[in-house]
Amino acid sequence: MPSRTRVLTGHDGQRFAFDPGSFCLELLLTGGPGKFARHEILHTPDDLARWLADSRLAAVAPLDDLRIDHSELAAIRRFRDTMLTVAQAMAHGERPAAEALDVVNEGATAFPRPRIDPATGSRAWAGPVTGAQILGAAAADAIDMLTGPHRDRIRECAASDCLLLFLDTSRPGRRRWCSMERCGNRQKVSAYRARRA
Ligand SMILES: [Zn+2]
Repeated sequence: MPSRTRVLTGHDGQRFAFDPGSFCLELLLTGGPGKFARHEILHTPDDLARWLADSRLAAVAPLDDLRIDHSELAAIRRFRDTMLTVAQAMAHGERPAAEALDVVNEGATAFPRPRIDPATGSRAWAGPVTGAQILGAAAADAIDMLTGPHRDRIRECAASDCLLLFLDTSRPGRRRWCSMERCGNRQKVSAYRARRA
């Protein structure tokens, strides 16, 4: 899927661009279990539709004809919450739980169908795209990531107080920060202060 950054707002109000590196990790920005629950933004199917409009999946082709029901939304949230544990395990060099991978595998059943718009020659998704197909796109993306050449590059931001997870798709593979302008810069400033002290 094409790269697409998200603009996030830190707890101090700083806005910064963040590239999660994959669609399944981008989905983690919508909330999660436990302490991530206060960041939940997917309360209704319409919330998910709004969020998807700026997603990497919509960068492939517009997602303007969606049909998502409440049970599908619940399944996507369950996948997302499970994906968080999978990505955290991978980022810390641990093996993801088998039950968690079951949830990923079970999600990969339906997929958005690509088509060429005869009028414009551009790529489109055959509509309506269902919630099950959105889940399938995320689960297939996760399987690609977990079995692909960058599977050892799932990382948590190196700042001790930042929990953002990303796939490092850079050529050298040395990305450490969620964002250079955010945590990379904070690190540079504190290293400079430490040297001066
Ligand atoms: Zn960070």
